[in-house]
Amino acid sequence: MPPGKPITIVGGGLAGLTLGIGLRQRGVPVTIWEAGRYPRHRVCGEFISGNGPAVLERLGLFARFEQAGAVYARTVLLVCGSNRSPIRQLAAPALCLSRHAMDALLAETFQQLGGELLVNTRWSAVENREGVVLATGRRVQSGEKNPRWFGVKAHVSRSSPVNLEADLEMHLAPDGYLGINRINGGEVNVCGLFRVRQGNRLPGSKPDWLRGEVGSLLHARLGAAEFAPDSFCSVAGLQLKPQRAAAKKECCIGDTVTMTPPVTGNGMSMAFESAELAIEPLAAYSQAQLDWAPAQAQIARLCDTTFARRLAWARRLQWMMISPALQGRLGARLLHSDWLWQLMFKQTR
Ligand SMILES: Cc1cc2nc3c(=O)[nH]c(=O)nc-3n(C[C@H](O)[C@H](O)[C@H](O)COP(=O)(O)OP(=O)(O)OC[C@H]3O[C@@H](n4cnc5c(N)ncnc54)[C@H](O)[C@@H]3O)c2cc1C
Repeated sequence: MPPGKPITIVGGGLAGLTLGIGLRQRGVPVTIWEAGRYPRHRVCGEFISGNGPAVLERLGLFARFEQAGAVYARTVLLVCGSNRSPIRQLAAPALCLSRHAMDALLAETFQQLGGELLVNTRWSAVENREGVVLATGRRVQSGEKNPRWFGVKAHVSRSSPVNLEADLEMHLAPDGYLGINRINGGEVNVCGLFRVRQGNRLPGSKPDWLRGEVGSLLHARLGAAEFAPDSFCSVAGLQLKPQRAAAKKECCIGDTVTMTPPVTGNGMSMAFESAELAIEPLAAYSQAQLDWAPAQAQIARLCDTTFARRLAWARRLQWMMISPALQGRLGARLLHSDWLWQLMFKQTR
């Protein structure tokens, strides 16, 4: 077969690299432009829940994740003030691997398959071009929006034990939430999403935000924890309102289309899934079986129909998780409701 028309992917995160791998497996010439380099830490709970592992399996990547030391999370505990849920089994285990290892292994796989990876290289073209896919990650919330959402992540070193009652503990508060879960190498991921009103700042430093208030269960878990200093990272201005791919001028996948609230633990799955959905239309374009505009429209339609329901439910879940009502008696009942838990888990992935 002739090599076909080339595809350029802007952004070598999970969506861009997964798409690059899928296209290389079909012999499509691909170049990825990545502004950063590998390995690198990313703000992420590093907890893959939903269809992501199945996509990885279909693309022949799952075994590589396991070889890299990915661990399974099977149980979850939700804590809100003095209220707590029972420890529940996840309907399907989640896969936990640091982004430090994950992004690097995908980048290596892409290159082994003959893909061209340009690191430390930022794409700056603004116009929409044929053959170019944007996988540049989250879109930044416009400056005047209130409140502002930001995320912070760090790893607790293996030498500093953290006693967890469940594989994933979610600690909820009216101004955000924080997850703690084990990852590869015996480390523990601590990742929080916080909101601040304009003009306000959270008191203290990043380790203080992650450790929680003195007297809380979160502080009992992490008060003495030693964070690996090089693992700290943060992102600000997160745009959590659902967006539609069909409304974009460009061909987009992953968080560039829309970001699901991190509480779902489904953002990485959506990055993998949207990449997989884009493979066939782009391969057809590359082989001159489909023009660019219909290929782009097909990808957008597939993404929108696949993600619409879970994004709508994720928005409700996010609202519920930070509702002050969760602290009171109603919260105790909600956290104990198996029906609500199963509904939310199923509908957000
Ligand atoms: C606080 C928080 C916690 C989260 N926890 C979880 C979780 O536990 N589980 C889960 O599944 N999801 C989680 N997520 C979501 C998850 O991290 C994202 O959904 C996922 O990273 C999206 O992948 P992506 O490839 O679309 O974007 P990214 O992984 O962000 O990759 C985008 C890439 O594009 C590059 N780039 C950007 N602009 C350019 C340019 N102009 N030129 C070249 N390169 C460019 C960037 O350097 C980056 O490497 C969390 C998110 C946050 C904020």
